[in-house]
Amino acid sequence: MVRNASGVIVGVEKRRSGPSIKGFIQLNQTRARQQVIITDANEEPQRGRASQRKQREERIQQQGRKRKMPPRGMRRGQHQPSRVTTQEMSEAKKRIRVNEVIQIADLAHQMGKKAGAIMRVLWGMGLRGLTINNAIDFETAELVAGEFGYTAENVAFQEDDLITDDERGEMLPRAPVVTMMGHVDHGKTSLLDKIRSARVAEGESGGITQHIGAYKVSTDNGEVVFLDTPGHEAFSAMRSRGANVTDVVVLVVAADDGVMPTTVEAIKHAKKASVPIIVALNKIDKPDANPGRVKQMLMEHGLVGEEFGGETIVVEVSAKTGQGIDKLLEMLALQTEMLDLKASAHGRAEGVVLEARVDKGRGPIATILVRGGTLHKGEIMVANEASGKVRAMLNDRGKILREVGPSTPVEVLGLDGAPSAGDRFNVVENEKAAKQLISHRREQRRRKESVVSGPSIKDLIKRKKTTALKIVLRADVDGSAEALRQALVELSTAKVKVDVIFAGVGAITQTDVKKASAGDAVIIGFNTKPVGKAGQDAEAEKVQIFTYGVIYDALDKTRELMLGLLEPEYREREQGEAEVRALFPIPRLGVVAGCRVVKGMVTRHSNIRVVRNGKIVHKGTVGSLRVFKDDVKEVREGFECGIVIKDFPEVEPMDILQAFELETIPPTLD
Ligand code: GDP
Repeated sequence: MVRNASGVIVGVEKRRSGPSIKGFIQLNQTRARQQVIITDANEEPQRGRASQRKQREERIQQQGRKRKMPPRGMRRGQHQPSRVTTQEMSEAKKRIRVNEVIQIADLAHQMGKKAGAIMRVLWGMGLRGLTINNAIDFETAELVAGEFGYTAENVAFQEDDLITDDERGEMLPRAPVVTMMGHVDHGKTSLLDKIRSARVAEGESGGITQHIGAYKVSTDNGEVVFLDTPGHEAFSAMRSRGANVTDVVVLVVAADDGVMPTTVEAIKHAKKASVPIIVALNKIDKPDANPGRVKQMLMEHGLVGEEFGGETIVVEVSAKTGQGIDKLLEMLALQTEMLDLKASAHGRAEGVVLEARVDKGRGPIATILVRGGTLHKGEIMVANEASGKVRAMLNDRGKILREVGPSTPVEVLGLDGAPSAGDRFNVVENEKAAKQLISHRREQRRRKESVVSGPSIKDLIKRKKTTALKIVLRADVDGSAEALRQALVELSTAKVKVDVIFAGVGAITQTDVKKASAGDAVIIGFNTKPVGKAGQDAEAEKVQIFTYGVIYDALDKTRELMLGLLEPEYREREQGEAEVRALFPIPRLGVVAGCRVVKGMVTRHSNIRVVRNGKIVHKGTVGSLRVFKDDVKEVREGFECGIVIKDFPEVEPMDILQAFELETIPPTLD
């Protein structure tokens, strides 16, 4: 599919050299691809999957024949190009092939060099502690190859050849996908429930039977899909995986509370993703609701309501009384119309995983959103490294569906594992293709896990010493774990790196404590807490555990911990000067320097520089400060006093004692 900048489908991309499973390997080698963008697909919609497949096969065969024809310039009767020169030959030879990553030994072999020579280059780049069995990424391999006069070519397997479907038909309007965002307790859940229950009551049987993380409601203005996952986390988890499923954000702001940090965060998220925002000014029924004030606050964040000449739709609603909800749905419909959202129900389904879990009885269950094509029961689906035959599909009312078209969320049973929120899923032709795809992904992941990537050129130029805050992360659901991991890592700065050494779903366990203890890490729990002996172990091992229910608090604490890793810096701040006039050795006190403060002041806690003939002969602290026989806190300019410099009896008359204090400069992360 072809999307414009805001993610709206504007056409269908067709690969003429389509993906036959048999042919994909050859195809991969020839890389002969042509892309045609069809913006006006008024083809006859094809009926029946079997006939579609047959047509596809026929076309591919035809194209296969076409492909075998010699290129234009070489057809019979025309002048044949001269043979490749030796120079061209040697250039071709000086190219190494890298499949995303490459083992050092293999790289050496391809260039006919000793592995040691490669290792030396890598050492030179600062990559030490490698063995020839380690793999390096393409970028690093390219740099190394360059050192030997070679060029590198990335010959990675293209998944698209297996999963792209060339059978997309007519583009039809589709339901918008809406995410509710906003500060905690402002009423996201209540609003969703109200919308949902009102609509269910209007005739749909079954009632609300389960929570599936997303559901479709029919409104007077058409259908709307609401994502009912923890708003922000899910949103950023999806985005971090490049799956921007949300078409419209409904920003819920309580009229009695106003714009809060999470509200601002939500605005930022939506703007960054170029997703339009509709504001639902909730709790309008409350006596202390102050919509005017809240609208003012929203304006400060760039959301100017229509009544003030802006473009933001602001609807006053109450999840309690139901006031304004119809208007909100109407506005959503209006916004959707402007977005002109379209999708095609033809061809193999593709979409995004919204949530996944493993049910004790039913096995892995994934809530997915179909974005294009139609998903049928019995088809083979692949999501990340999980796959399986679709055994059953259920909507949010527990109704069993046999086929599911675009913009529809369903629970799918039949996968052999639980993918992560934000993973894409695809239907593939058969189990063999699924296996191929997954084994490729597994291999790729394993190789990447053992990959050592080189420092970027910039890093090589100015290598900075960085400290790392290591974190073991636990969250209640997959969406949060991924979103928080992402958010934590993004806190990294040039001085302190955040390294999430483990992120998982569930309670904090003894194993987590072990991991943290071994890796000098702290544990952060999001909506989860230690179970069993984990708490005790943590105390014994001195592992810190922090648990939060608000992403903001977790991030704040992390920043604080990051700062804690930095050594504070000190600055000397001059206080004054005293001149040594005479010395009085006094038992128990040591040598007392009889002084006169000639500038500023000297305090009991001053640091002292002893300057003799313009040179600093000692740096120390005040051991005692007295005026006559009394200990004093400070002595000001013009007064006389007795100063003992700690551990420095060698003080002499005429020495200048410069008093200063050390001011701590709080470290900063940047
Ligand atoms: P969420 O954290 O954003 O999902 O907020 P909830 O939906 O859990 O609502 C938080 C609290 O506000 C609950 O006690 C709701 O009953 C209450 N609430 C939500 N919407 C309204 C409303 O429109 N009017 C009033 N009076 N209370 C509301």
